[in-house]
Parts: sequence; structure tokens; C-alpha cells
Amino acid sequence: MDISERILALKEQKGMVILAHNYQAPEVQDIADYLGDSLDLCYRAQELDADTIVFAGVRFMAESALILNPEKTVLFPAFDATCPMADMLTPDAIIAAKKRYPDAPVVLYGNTTAACKAHADVICTSANAYRIVSSLDADTILFGPDKNLRHWVAGQTDQTLVPIPDDGYCYVHNVRITEEDVRSLMAAHPEAAVLAHPECTPAVQDLADKIVSTNGMLAEARSSPARSFIICTERELCYRLRKEIPEKTYYEIPHAVCDDMKKTTLATLYEAMATEGRAMTLPREVLERARRPLERMLELSRR
Ligand code: SF4
Repeated sequence: MDISERILALKEQKGMVILAHNYQAPEVQDIADYLGDSLDLCYRAQELDADTIVFAGVRFMAESALILNPEKTVLFPAFDATCPMADMLTPDAIIAAKKRYPDAPVVLYGNTTAACKAHADVICTSANAYRIVSSLDADTILFGPDKNLRHWVAGQTDQTLVPIPDDGYCYVHNVRITEEDVRSLMAAHPEAAVLAHPECTPAVQDLADKIVSTNGMLAEARSSPARSFIICTERELCYRLRKEIPEKTYYEIPHAVCDDMKKTTLATLYEAMATEGRAMTLPREVLERARRPLERMLELSRR
């Protein structure tokens, strides 16, 4: 048996479920039970009746799965896979901002540590950020950590979104995907529709036909009359697009790679599942305080 077959056999034997983010390596996507963006995976984590969830993604995602399912075991094979953007915001920075804006609710992007989520009023993702912000009865909102997502949402509302921190960003979308990259693909493929993730820079957002989350890109590729797309997000989404919607053409940005997302390999998955030794844990107080803003997001998203 090769390693993929051994993982599938272990999964069956132990009743585990593998959740994988859309940016995971192709071989990991291939053995996952569910693929999705972080909002999608949050819903899945809540709906599953398996006792053990194996999470292929980065730390904040596995933390969220545990926060929503404290009675379950969440195995996190790539224990050192963090999101550098999540690490740009600290609980102390949130507390300091709350002192300056005592009446402003705190909306945090899901790409934050559990310790930061414990200080939020509600969480959002790139798929629901505008809906969450506009549902709040507040003129001023503390919003973080992604400055480009903040820019995109702020452009759709009269509410004031105060950034926390001032300069949070994702190195894949903010640095590795440049305006020049997109312009050069547009010149080579003028017929292609441009889909950009809201973590991209305002200059890239301005070039896009649609600004959408990764699941939004899948939906757009399925429903749009366009036959080809320039995909401005982590390149591995194109693997899923080609597999699920093969009749259309996708142009990725080859160097748009999230190194932390690639820390989950078939070997780390197998080891975590065989030994059950990489279980996510969080302090009880953080677990309880971080659950409320996540559940509030799920409730507002379902409306
Ligand atoms: S793609 Fe960016 S936001 Fe997503 S996990 Fe990687 S560094 Fe974080």
C-alpha cells in the first residue's frame, strides 16, 4: 500500500475525518473528506459527527475547529504551520485599541490567534466580512488584522473601520501577487476574467472583475459565462478548480505560494493519524471566550 492508501485505511479504521483548506498541496487535497475556505471548514467542523477531526491547514484554522468542537479531538499534523498575518496582531494591541475606542465593536478576520479571538465581538472571513460589518449597529468598528480586506470592506460601507494593527497583511497576497504579475497575465490572456482575493493589494483589486473568497472563486468559475480566469490567490486553488471544473481554463501566479500551507504532507498526516499525538489544545478560558465571537459569525452568516 502506498502512503495515500494507508491514510485512507487509517481514516476508515479510526473513524477520522480530514478537513483541508483550498491552499493545501494537491496530494493532500486528494485524500481530504472536505475541502473549503475557512468559513466552509468552520461549518463542516460543527456539523461532523466524527470524534476526531484531522485538520490540514494552518494553526488558527485548527484552533477554530477545536473552539467550535471542544468535545472532539482535533489533530493538527503540521504543528509549526502558522499564518504570519495572524501573528501580526496581539491581544495587547486589541486591548490598547479598545481603550482608544471604548464604544467600537471589534471585528476580527478569522486569520487571528485564538488568544486574539477571545477579545473580539465577532469574527469574519473573506466570504462574509461585508455582511458581518454591515450587520453591526455601529459607526466605528475596530477591524483587523488584514489592511487589504479592511480597504475592500470600507469601500462598501459608510462605517469607519479602524485598522488593528496599522499594517497587517498576508505575504502571499500582498507581496507575492503584484500588479505587474496580474497585468502581464491580462496582456497574455485578454479574454480571461480576473478573480482576486480581498487580501490582495488595492492595485490588484482595482484590476479584478470580481473580488471574492476562494469558495467564491469556485462559485464564479461554475456560474460565469467566461471560459477562462486569472486567479489572484494562492496557486493551489487552481488544482481544485481544474479538478472540479475541467472544462474551463485557469491562469495562476506560479510564485503565489503559502509556505505554511505546504507544511502538511502525506507523511505528517499519516504520523498524526497513526500516533494521535498532535492534538490541538487551548487554555479553557481562551476556548470559552473565543467561542462566542465565532458562533456569532456563524449565526450572522446563516441569516
Ligand atoms: S495564504 Fe496568507 S493569510 Fe492564508 S495562511 Fe498563508 S500567510 Fe496566512
